[in-house]
Amino acid sequence: DIIRYKHTKRVGSFLIGKLLGTGSFAKVREGMHIHTSERIAIKAVDKNKAKDDSYVFKNLRREARIMQLLSHPNIIRLLEVVETENSYYMVMELVSGGDVMHHIMSSKHSCLDEHIVKKYIKQIITAIHYMHEAGIIHRDLKVENLLLDESNNIKIIDFGLSNFIHNPDNMTVNMVQTQCGSPAYAAPELLGHKNYGKEVDVWSIGVNMFAMLAGSLPYVVEPYDITALHAKILDGRINHIPDNITSSCKDLLMRFLTPDPAKRITLPEAIEHHWFKDLGMNISLVPYPSFPQYEDIERSVVVHITERFMLDENELISALTENKACNTSCMYHLVNLRLQRYLKSKPALHHVPTKPVLESR
Ligand code: ATP
Repeated sequence: DIIRYKHTKRVGSFLIGKLLGTGSFAKVREGMHIHTSERIAIKAVDKNKAKDDSYVFKNLRREARIMQLLSHPNIIRLLEVVETENSYYMVMELVSGGDVMHHIMSSKHSCLDEHIVKKYIKQIITAIHYMHEAGIIHRDLKVENLLLDESNNIKIIDFGLSNFIHNPDNMTVNMVQTQCGSPAYAAPELLGHKNYGKEVDVWSIGVNMFAMLAGSLPYVVEPYDITALHAKILDGRINHIPDNITSSCKDLLMRFLTPDPAKRITLPEAIEHHWFKDLGMNISLVPYPSFPQYEDIERSVVVHITERFMLDENELISALTENKACNTSCMYHLVNLRLQRYLKSKPALHHVPTKPVLESR
C-alpha cells in the first residue's frame, strides 16, 4: 500500500495524497500513515496566508485545541497535530461519504426524505448538545460542514469558528459577541449584533433541517445584505416549507427557527420531540464527562497524571478545585478529559477515597 500510494509529500508520519476539499485558508487532503497504512484526512493551514486575516492567525491553534476535547461518534476526531515553520496540519479521521450539501444537490428532487433528515437531525442534536455540555459552541453549522461516513452517519467538521462559552462558576453561558459564521445560517440575535449564546447553534440546526427538507434556505436575500436578512427573519417572511412534510416535522422546524432565543426550543427538549418518537429506540444525550471528585483521586494517580501529561501539579489542582481560574482556558477540559480516560482505564486506583490527596508534597 505504502509503495503504491500516490503522494506529493510527507508530513510527520503521513504521506500526503489527493485533495479532498479547499476552504478559505486551508486545504484538506487524504493521507496515509507510513507504518500502519491507516487512511486519514489532513487539513493544512498555510501560516503565511493566514497572517492576512488577524482572526484566523490569532485562532490558528484553537480549532485543534477544541477538537482535542471532543470525543463523540458524530464529531470528526482529531488524531494528531503537526506544525512546521510555514504550515499547521491537523490530522483527522477520514470520512468518505461526501457532505450533506452534495447529497441534497445530487438527490432526485434536490432535497432529502423526511426519515433521512430525522436521522441526521437526531445525530446533530446529540453532537451539538455534547459540545454545549463541554462549554463549546460551533457557530458554523452548515450543510457543507456535515460529512457522511460510509454507514451514512453524520460527522460534524470545521471547528475554525468554535469557541468556549463555559462558565463553571455558575454554569450559565458567557455571552460572546464575535460576529461569525455564514449569514444564511446565523441566528437573528447574532445578525442583530446582540450578545448571544449556545442558542445560535440551535437556530443553525433549524436552517440545516430546512435546507435538507426543502433543498433551499429558509431566508434568502442579496448576498451580504445582513440588514435585510435580519428584518426578514424578524418579520417571519420564511421561504415556502414543502407541503409533503408531516406536521410534527414542521412543528420542530419552527421551534428551532424561533427568532427569540429565550423562546427557542432547547436541545434536551428537541430530542424529546414527538417527531423522533417513531425511531423506535430511546435516544439519550451523551453527557460530557464531569470531573471526578478531587477527594476521590489517589495520590499515585495524581503523580502519574502530572508526570505523564507534563502538567504542573498546581495547574492540576487549580483545574480541579478552583476551576474559576481557568474557566476560559482549555486546561479545564483537557485535564478533565485526560483524568476521565485515565480513571476509566485504571478503575482500581479510583477506589480509595480518603482525605484530599492534592496537598503540598
Ligand atoms: P471554510 O473556509 O469553508 O470554513 P475550512 O478552511 O475551515 O473551510 P474545512 O471546512 O474544515 O476547511 O474543510 C474543507 C473541505 O475539506 C470540506 O468541505 C470537506 O469537503 C473536506 N474535508 C474536511 N475534513 C474532512 C475529513 N475529515 N474527511 C474528508 N473530507 C474532509
